[in-house]
Amino acid sequence: MWTLVVNCGSSSVKFALLRPTSGEVRLSGLAERLGSEAAAVRVDRPGERVTVPLPRGSYPEAFGVLLAELDRLGARRDVGAVGHRVVHGGARFSAPALITPEVLEVIRACVPLAPLHNPANVAGIEAARAAFPDLPHVAVFDTAFHQTMPEVAYRYAVPPAWYHEHGVRRYGFHGISHAFVAGEAARLLGRDLSELHLVTAHLGNGCSVTAIAGGRSVDTSMGLTPLEGLVMGTRSGDVDPGLHDYLAREAGLSLGEITADLNRHSGLLGLSGLTNDMRELEAAAAAGDERARLAVEIFVYRLAKTVAGMAVALGRLDALVFTGGIGENSATVRAATLARLELLGFRPDAAANARAVRGQGGRITLPEGTPALVVNTNEERMIARETQRLVVGDL
Ligand code: ADP
Repeated sequence: MWTLVVNCGSSSVKFALLRPTSGEVRLSGLAERLGSEAAAVRVDRPGERVTVPLPRGSYPEAFGVLLAELDRLGARRDVGAVGHRVVHGGARFSAPALITPEVLEVIRACVPLAPLHNPANVAGIEAARAAFPDLPHVAVFDTAFHQTMPEVAYRYAVPPAWYHEHGVRRYGFHGISHAFVAGEAARLLGRDLSELHLVTAHLGNGCSVTAIAGGRSVDTSMGLTPLEGLVMGTRSGDVDPGLHDYLAREAGLSLGEITADLNRHSGLLGLSGLTNDMRELEAAAAAGDERARLAVEIFVYRLAKTVAGMAVALGRLDALVFTGGIGENSATVRAATLARLELLGFRPDAAANARAVRGQGGRITLPEGTPALVVNTNEERMIARETQRLVVGDL
């Protein structure tokens, strides 16, 4: 079955028409700068790339272009279902859900938990349903995979009313990616996922680490929001919760200003004062920029500490998996992380690590130690798979 995968951000829509079983992609694209006059959609047709301007810059206009492209390919009738990535499903969704008016209401009710993401997801779903009224639409949640976390991992040590009345607990994110690469890692290792204890590190602009026992998430580094945990591109990750009060008093910053700084002006960008882009930071560090060197070192140190902590959640570690733009491409970050994790039994294979870039995954440790793997994530394929599973039963 051909499945249309839609990922709506606050000013963008990413889409792909693919077959989940083979991974074959027939059409893909990205609409950007929605809401502005500069909005345009880039369409990757078989063998060519075109850019179509979107003068109104709206979601419906972007879906109009998508429909026209499907008609051009004669593919509209082949689409069996639409799969939507939804960032926050709260504690309500532990699996993908067929989108009904009631499900849409619950996604709306999760808006306070993800004020930047869920409104865009809802707007995207509404526009897609208007464009494809006769197809089943499925929501695949970034949080759902982590709903298997035990209470010991998901509760914060805060007043219980915060949890019971306001849902203050750890939810975790990047679940679609963590689940996908865990399955791929099992295949690479030639083992059954149900018998493996894995730590997966998704390192992109957002970064998180998950402990996976027998295919189920048992702990993860992101929490109530995607701000907790590792150092990221522009996000701080963990800070002292006393920082807000201190900065409000000392620097006269408002809560909103502090939150914006922690989300947008911190992480690799904040530490380096240069960029949130790991590739550029590595180049700057190699050229002698001290702030870039320190930013990468802190990124790696916090990552290694978190991976070691996740081993506690698992009891034993069968493999560490690197994925996301940094995990899949940065031999430097991987080597420095493994060097700090000798206590977990890694024996790095420098040549294999250097080869594992630009889509070349595989094992980057010597046969005698704990395996570390590089696995390319494919969230679109995972969303398509989950969508098909829900619509027509097992693959
Ligand atoms: P997103 O989370 O936005 O999907 P990606 O998963 O594409 O982001 O990851 C983006 C990050 O991957 C950036 O920091 C980028 O610099 C980094 N990256 C991509 N290629 C390389 C590379 N060859 N070396 C180091 N970092 C890389």
